[in-house]
Amino acid sequence: MLISRIVKLIDFMIQIRFPDGAVRSYEAGVSAFDIATSISEGLARKILVAEVNGEVWDISRPIQQDAALKLLTWDDTAGKSTFWHSSAHLLAEAVEQIFPGVKFWVGPAVDKGFYYDIDLGDHKISEEDLVMLQKKMSELAKQNNRFLRKEIPKSEAVGYFEEKGDEYKLDLLSGLEDGAITFYTQGSFTDLCRGPHIPHTGFIKAIQLTSIAGAYWKGDEKNKQLTRIYGVTFPNQKELDEYLLMLEEAKKRDHRKLGKELGIFTMDDDVGQGLPLWMPNGTIIIEELEKLAKETEQAAGYKRVVTPHIAKESMYLTSGHLPYYQDSMYPPMEIDGQKYYLKAMNCPHHHKIFAAEPRSYKDLPLRLAEYGTCYRYEQSGELFGLMRVRCLHMNDAHIYCTKEQFYEEFKAVNQMYLKYFEIFGIDKYVMRLSLHDPSKLGQKYVDEPELWKETEALVRDVLVRTNTPFVEVQDEAAFYGPKIDVQIWSAIGREFTLATNQVDFAQGRRFKLGFTSHDNKEETPLIIHRAPLGTHERFIGFLLEHYAGKFPLWLAPLQVKVLPISDKFLDYANSVVQQLKNADIRAEVDDRSEKIGKKIRDTELSKVPYMLIIGEKEMQDEMVSVRRQGKGDMGTVKAADFIASAKEEIKERRSV
Ligand SMILES: [Zn+2]
Ligand SMILES: [Zn+2]
Repeated sequence: MLISRIVKLIDFMIQIRFPDGAVRSYEAGVSAFDIATSISEGLARKILVAEVNGEVWDISRPIQQDAALKLLTWDDTAGKSTFWHSSAHLLAEAVEQIFPGVKFWVGPAVDKGFYYDIDLGDHKISEEDLVMLQKKMSELAKQNNRFLRKEIPKSEAVGYFEEKGDEYKLDLLSGLEDGAITFYTQGSFTDLCRGPHIPHTGFIKAIQLTSIAGAYWKGDEKNKQLTRIYGVTFPNQKELDEYLLMLEEAKKRDHRKLGKELGIFTMDDDVGQGLPLWMPNGTIIIEELEKLAKETEQAAGYKRVVTPHIAKESMYLTSGHLPYYQDSMYPPMEIDGQKYYLKAMNCPHHHKIFAAEPRSYKDLPLRLAEYGTCYRYEQSGELFGLMRVRCLHMNDAHIYCTKEQFYEEFKAVNQMYLKYFEIFGIDKYVMRLSLHDPSKLGQKYVDEPELWKETEALVRDVLVRTNTPFVEVQDEAAFYGPKIDVQIWSAIGREFTLATNQVDFAQGRRFKLGFTSHDNKEETPLIIHRAPLGTHERFIGFLLEHYAGKFPLWLAPLQVKVLPISDKFLDYANSVVQQLKNADIRAEVDDRSEKIGKKIRDTELSKVPYMLIIGEKEMQDEMVSVRRQGKGDMGTVKAADFIASAKEEIKERRSV
């Protein structure tokens, strides 16, 4: 009797495993919210959603079986995106209350915020409408309405939207299987949605509807144009205020605006969309970055190579880029009966260099580096300044190594990233370790379960042992191995994805790359793909915003401007410029017959780091009067001393 009761009790207990490895028993049917409450009331108040065995759930959903559980808050990516997606429901509720009878398509979370695509019928939406909707949303949010989940049969769902006359939702439903349909209701609004959502609308404390755009239904211009309303929400007013301030600052620092003002790059319709032309000033920055990369890579034992911009179809069939990556490549050109493609990445060319000579373990690690030019066919709607382009120059390299060498090699690459962050004053960064999903081996991922386990552990080990901040994400690895996506934040707190650092145990085999091991066996090398400075396009776009166009001395296209107070001092000014040039410092004289005040103001605007002002006293004593961008007057010094200290500042690549 007692035993059977115990058995029954055990039957109803499930094991919940937490991210730190701790395991606790709960009764089956317990919710993530109950579990959070059992840990602390404070935590329970903060959690928005829960990851249950890798799937994101509403926190009220009962958990019936043993599970790995992660409680997610606003600080987690999935917490934020659920918050924003739930805000899209709130927007829809407000829209429906103000404009009854409208129809809804979809309302996803985006990078920063959310949108909803709506058919407003004959109504033309205005800025005033946005203000009204925003007010309505706040009002509804304060009602603390719960997001209630309901699983319903398809027929019932179809009936609901037929009655409502919403052909868009009916279209969505037609693609769904019976038995897998869920409705969510908050307040007066019900939506067809897979979820998950935050517990209730009361979490949404600060709301900003940001813009309106037209969006063709299903992205097809033959279809009706719907109204897309964008917004962003936060759990408190302070974060919204900071966000709006950041947006304002970002506008001033827009890389397209600064790029034009400072003569960095231009676009020309005759050249084509997404194909930036680098102006002389931009080219100086490119050359300085390449110099940094070359010095750093040389010290780290890399060898430089140069490869053509095109290759035959057969190589991309070997690499697997064809057919899988075909949509992102320019269409082929036919020459002598052969198809040639513009290269979309440098890896295959480098693999061919590895394969060009017999290799032994003594040649490894072999590190091949190239600032390679690649061409990618990005959709024209996706193109954006320097951030999304069709021609890119990549700080690329491939490291071929043995398994035993992998740890040290990967660590060195990682440290190279950190060194660069220091040089560019990038204080905030996160490395995302993207792992495979064992259930997708052989489909999304190369079917090598042991190699996956091994390389993932090695990469994690490097990050842990070097104290590098990182987060792990499941199911986002590359086809051929785990990777680290590097995210960095600019000085004003905007996030950029910089580059990836990837492990590859598949391409070596596809290209039949081999080396002779210690015991005379033929082995395949592991390959590390890395590009710490990303592409010139994206990185310089980032730097323009990060520095607000005020580049540190070593990177500034024009480093010193010499300003004579009048024409009387022009000869001496020219001789100072000559001395600067002799010291490899980029300098110019302002020989206009303008007042000195105007010369100073103009030079400030062009963001030149140093101004040297020259008058009677300076000329007599071979001195210069120094002004530093952003700091003002620095006093008068011997011209030779200024040159020596500027040279030092450039050599050390100091950030201020
Ligand atoms: Zn939803
Ligand atoms: Zn590569």
